[in-house]
Amino acid sequence: MKRLIFLGPPGAGKGTQAQILSKLYQIPHISTGDILRQAVKEQTLLGQKAQSYMDRGELVPDELILDLIEERLSQPDTEKGWILDGFPRNVSQAAFLEKLLQKINLSADFVLNLEVPDEVLIERMLARGRKDDNKETISRRLEIYREQTAPVIDFYRQRKLLKVVNGDLNLESVTSLLKAVMDS
Ligand code: AMP
Repeated sequence: MKRLIFLGPPGAGKGTQAQILSKLYQIPHISTGDILRQAVKEQTLLGQKAQSYMDRGELVPDELILDLIEERLSQPDTEKGWILDGFPRNVSQAAFLEKLLQKINLSADFVLNLEVPDEVLIERMLARGRKDDNKETISRRLEIYREQTAPVIDFYRQRKLLKVVNGDLNLESVTSLLKAVMDS
């Protein structure tokens, strides 16, 4: 049973690593970004509401995200554990998650922060070529990360759950570091 939260700036490799660990530990990978992109693709009501924020690199309002995560974490496959990627993105989302888990007597086991220098992040995002991976949106997402998401690191540091991992290595090396933390 592993419950894991992935922090780290956009482009740090959270999604890639979360996917690998999800297979390895047989636990679902829950990416709010993936869920939102799917909703946009299907043009659901959620997708229609979220799209303009995502295109601008802004955070989607909490009211759209919190119900979504509560719903997802109530699915039976999460009983084995989970990997959250892209959530929580601000301190109020982190506080919401903490309360939600407390209600069912749970907490995250680890919070992993993948550290990668800005110039590497920008390079990686430009190479990825997602719709929101253009120069302007990338710099807005990094700005939002610093303003709103970086404080989440301290939230978990205070709770002694935070582990910092160097994300500026090749893919296999980062996976090994993450596995070492998860198996500790
Ligand atoms: P990601 O794939 O995690 O980089 O997310 C892509 C975009 O989806 C972000 O730039 C936000 O617009 C939106 N998004 C994803 N997760 C969240 C979240 N937890 N809170 C608010 N917006 C989010």
